[in-house]
Amino acid sequence: MTSTFKIFNIKFPQAIPSLGSSADVALASLYGNFALVLPTKPDDSFCPRIIYTLSTIVHEDPFPAPGQNGQPRFSMKTYSENVGVLEQLEALGILRQTGISYKQGFVDIPVVEVILKENELVYACAAHYEDNGMMDCQLEVIGIKHQRCGKCKQVYYCDQECQKRHWPVHKKDCPIAQRSPTDGLALIENRRRAGFSSFLSNAGFQTLNL
Ligand SMILES: [Zn+2]
Ligand SMILES: [Zn+2]
Repeated sequence: MTSTFKIFNIKFPQAIPSLGSSADVALASLYGNFALVLPTKPDDSFCPRIIYTLSTIVHEDPFPAPGQNGQPRFSMKTYSENVGVLEQLEALGILRQTGISYKQGFVDIPVVEVILKENELVYACAAHYEDNGMMDCQLEVIGIKHQRCGKCKQVYYCDQECQKRHWPVHKKDCPIAQRSPTDGLALIENRRRAGFSSFLSNAGFQTLNL
């Protein structure tokens, strides 16, 4: 397969065990969530695949609508382990700020827009994602050249086997995803959140009802 996704170097605010103070990463689109991930699976099983989860949930706007040119947008966590990461991603031409932000407690959550093209991102396999969620450090992350639903063009798979396995679930979402990509992704994300509902309710979030 030919990978077209963009790989760029990020300096970590604090060194990460088994990675050090910087690493080559890619921007992953994980069904409405965005993360910096290692482009290939690490040999070391203790090494995290997802370096930083960039997106966070705000009650006012859980899924910001895409920009005018269809560029994805998300609410970005810029505090704690993500300090200094947005500035680097802006300088690298990966993300840009939209000027919209939300107050959450004492922190400001900016809405950012992805500048990279669709084929410069990596994606999660929808079948693996529904199985494991984004908490799984062994998450299958794939480039756009892999299998993609030909009808809605919104979900990605490792191969035909994963696509077939996921079809009983996706056939209900597919017509919705064809009408509105954001709504289609929200259905997948909503199921993931329902699966993590106890985790989320502990964290003070409510599962969306669509
Ligand atoms: Zn898969
Ligand atoms: Zn589809």
